[in-house]
Amino acid sequence: MITIVVDGKECRVEANTALLKALRASGVKIPSLCYHPALKKPIGACRLCVVEICPPGAPAKTALSCAVKTSDGLRVNTATDTVCEARKKAILQLLTLAPQSEILLKLASDYGIEIPFQPDGCIRCRLCERVCGEIVGAAALKLEKRDGRNYIVPVEGACIGCGTCANICPTRAIQIEDRESVRTIRIRNEIIGVHPLEQCAICGKRFATPRFLEYIHHRTLPHPDVKDHHHYCPSCAKLYLVKS
Ligand code: SF4
Repeated sequence: MITIVVDGKECRVEANTALLKALRASGVKIPSLCYHPALKKPIGACRLCVVEICPPGAPAKTALSCAVKTSDGLRVNTATDTVCEARKKAILQLLTLAPQSEILLKLASDYGIEIPFQPDGCIRCRLCERVCGEIVGAAALKLEKRDGRNYIVPVEGACIGCGTCANICPTRAIQIEDRESVRTIRIRNEIIGVHPLEQCAICGKRFATPRFLEYIHHRTLPHPDVKDHHHYCPSCAKLYLVKS
């Protein structure tokens, strides 16, 4: 074991080991996303673990703690202005690559970086809102201003769970998930609709929501050519239509 000085305090650490690992073992919090102790060589890709080091007899300099080996008498500063600025720069750089990454957004907030606008994957084409209003007829989505920006948001209780918005969304910002007989449609972390899924009357497959089936039933009632096959999934409906 050797002694290093971390932020003015002496620490006993393993000799010739990654400084990042030694700092963490001593309870010092250092961010990093590309380091793993099980892998042989650190590559310093994320640059988040930057610290200031001052080897005995040498001037202070910034270095990536994943790539520095511990040596006796090494002085390390982990939270100076220079270190914070370097980390902020690294976080901003990473955010350009992964602007929706939750871990990066959390780091940005920890380091006081203001993100004026949190990307949500939506390009505001309004296809979802338009199709839901014009074609589906449910008008379950609307554009709403929040903190000076427009967002697609749900109209409470209006969604019938057809999934058209998710299917038409060119950037997949609207997600549809069918799990254990329940369909959930969401944008960002906001729920547009949660619906049970009905079974196909022929094959038993869960395929559509009761609100959607009821809606279609009423909407197509006046049409003389429409047969009442709404409780068949698309595959069985095809078979039914061929036979009838
Ligand atoms: S799933 Fe809901 S919000 Fe989306 S198009 Fe259908 S009714 Fe509208």
